[in-house]
Amino acid sequence: MTRRRIYEIARELDVTSKEFVTRLGELGMPGLKASNTVDEEEYALIVNLYTDEGAAEPTAEAAEEAPPAEVRPRERRTRVTTGDPRAPVVSVLGHIDHGKTTLLDALRSSQLVEKEAGGITQGVAAYQVDLRGQKITVIDTPGHKAFTGMRARGAQATDIAILVVAADDGVMAQTVEAIDHIRAADIPMIVAVNKIDKANADVDRVMGDLAKQGLTPEAWGGDTVTVPISALNGENLEELMEMILLVAEMEDLRGDPDAALEAVIIESHLSAGRGPVASVVVRNGTLREKDIIVADQTYGRVKALIDGSGTRCAEATPGTAVEVLGLQEVPAVGSTLEVLSKINEAKRLAERRRSEAESPRRSRAQLSVEDLFKEAQEEEKLRLILKAGSTGALEAVRREIEALQVGEIEKEILLTGVGAVSESDILLASSVSGPCLVVGFGVKADGKATQLADRNGVIVMTYEIIYDLIEQIEGTLKRMLAPEFREVSLGTAEVRDIFKIPVGVVAGCYIAEGRVQRSAKARLLRDGEELFVGEIASLRRFEDDVREVQSGRECGIRLAEFDDVQIGDRLEFFLLEEVPA
Ligand code: GDP
Repeated sequence: MTRRRIYEIARELDVTSKEFVTRLGELGMPGLKASNTVDEEEYALIVNLYTDEGAAEPTAEAAEEAPPAEVRPRERRTRVTTGDPRAPVVSVLGHIDHGKTTLLDALRSSQLVEKEAGGITQGVAAYQVDLRGQKITVIDTPGHKAFTGMRARGAQATDIAILVVAADDGVMAQTVEAIDHIRAADIPMIVAVNKIDKANADVDRVMGDLAKQGLTPEAWGGDTVTVPISALNGENLEELMEMILLVAEMEDLRGDPDAALEAVIIESHLSAGRGPVASVVVRNGTLREKDIIVADQTYGRVKALIDGSGTRCAEATPGTAVEVLGLQEVPAVGSTLEVLSKINEAKRLAERRRSEAESPRRSRAQLSVEDLFKEAQEEEKLRLILKAGSTGALEAVRREIEALQVGEIEKEILLTGVGAVSESDILLASSVSGPCLVVGFGVKADGKATQLADRNGVIVMTYEIIYDLIEQIEGTLKRMLAPEFREVSLGTAEVRDIFKIPVGVVAGCYIAEGRVQRSAKARLLRDGEELFVGEIASLRRFEDDVREVQSGRECGIRLAEFDDVQIGDRLEFFLLEEVPA
């Protein structure tokens, strides 16, 4: 019996999968997903239902109510909601030897049949594939290091992640790491269960492994889109592309060619013949030849744009990737490209960024844990990356950390892993916004990781004793709490005279009780009503500025930002003292 996917039926009926699923929901078949399969009988039922009831325009309300759970568009800072649908940009991640490179090659070569052999894709770090006129932009660097490296400066190049898991091997250490990195990026993922041509392939086992990672496959009633493939012999590649396009449709990826340019550098190098070369993914707006551009700490004028097939093009629109020639220097991967109107402005901006980056005061490399605390005070969440010598140790640390409860501060463990703190951990830490600690328990950071952490200003803390580790994290959380203050009363004064001076009004006061300090706060009361609380701008005795005046004496007090003082008003002075958490 043939089985069909919902999106295929939608295509037959000439309706988008999203509309189709929504309409079926309205017609009493909720919960269907575009990637679900149905048998002949269900197929007939669905088609009848849909055609009988009429393909009425789904109401806006219904459209909002019933998007399939797994691909509900997320709210992201950089989300573009206007413009035309654009090609999704995908990255391939997964454990070593599971077939990432083979999949990238297979996708690419599926598109190159008609072209001459050799010399097709030279440098561009991404290429486009086409399925019935719909395009997918594939980033050609496999692995989560590259993926997170691109994100390390806060820019997101990838829309959808393809997680490759070999069917003969299952979910392995780097698969789990890749899952953590994808989750940290908050983008949808599709699992390609690869090598199904192998005799010992066991797709069910992979499904089980995925479920254990919280990625229950759709076929098992979960939300994770899985596609069994063989990258080696090309089996099911088209279905994988279908799924990518489907998820893209659900994500409602858009780009507006007329908007301001948003483009992310995904690769850069110095070419002997062509000078600095940067591959960029355009997410919004249009990049054109001759544009004046700034990227990271360098600038230039676009000399040439080269697309994924090695052809020179005049412009690059949303969802495409191109090589850009014409920058003065090689920009950092993950930085964004901006278009300015004047070359002088571009030069100035690039120079300013360079000097800021070089100034020791601003260098992130100078960040200490203290600085993290300072940064952290506006945040309500501490993110952690945990590495330990064994799974047992890892679990113990995780349990202890999860048990910590400090105010309302949340803790999020982005990644846990066995082994030394690695470059990939540092990249992940630098790709998140907000405070993030990399913590090693019984393990150290390897040399490269330490260098990268210094460069990127990531704080790595390693401990041999769990008690020290927990104490430090608890301390960090406490420092993140917004500090609480209590008032310590100093004294009171009566206002007996008023003097107008050029900068405001001075109250001639008699200190009735206690004392007043220049650094104290003042509260002004008139007939018992509080009219002002704030700073003291000046405190004088006769002509002199003084720090303190004791009871029984007279002095002149000017309040900061309050000039409506009257004779007979009463002032109360107090200090604010931080209450220890
Ligand atoms: P990567 O490390 O994830 O990039 O893995 P590669 O793409 O280099 O593949 C590792 C090995 O697996 C190579 O020998 C590939 O030929 C082989 N391989 C990749 N995909 C498949 C597949 O679908 N079927 C089989 N039988 N072998 C595959």
